[in-house]
Amino acid sequence: MDAPRFRDPQIRIEDLADEPILVVCPRCAGRASVTPDRLTCAGCALVRVPPGPDYRAWNRPVDPFFREPLWLRADCCGGHTLWAFHAWHLDLIERFVVAKLRERELGDRPGLTLVARLPAWMTAAKHRDEVLRTIAKLRATLS
Ligand SMILES: [Zn+2]
Repeated sequence: MDAPRFRDPQIRIEDLADEPILVVCPRCAGRASVTPDRLTCAGCALVRVPPGPDYRAWNRPVDPFFREPLWLRADCCGGHTLWAFHAWHLDLIERFVVAKLRERELGDRPGLTLVARLPAWMTAAKHRDEVLRTIAKLRATLS
């Protein structure tokens, strides 16, 4: 069987915010969702608007607009944190880690795409099984 191929979809982390980001609700600790406009929680009916563009933070295990802890995050591989904004992000990381052959095409956004910026510990062959186990565990919290 051929090794699975992975084609870099040329996505930047900012593009992931097109879908609601899952966070831990600051009021009830349930699963809330964040968009650039608001944080909403179905569990406790909390609704908040973000502090503003100057507050934004990317590439951390918090949502970029409110800096609330992400719902999808877990300790992994000895002191690292595996995190994802939502199921799609988790799927993207999984596909990349599973793929033996990684294709990076020099598109018009070279070097800065999401998968190009995944940390080395996450993509190291020796961590593959643990990373995939952690992803499966996180995915189970979405059902
Ligand atoms: Zn809540």
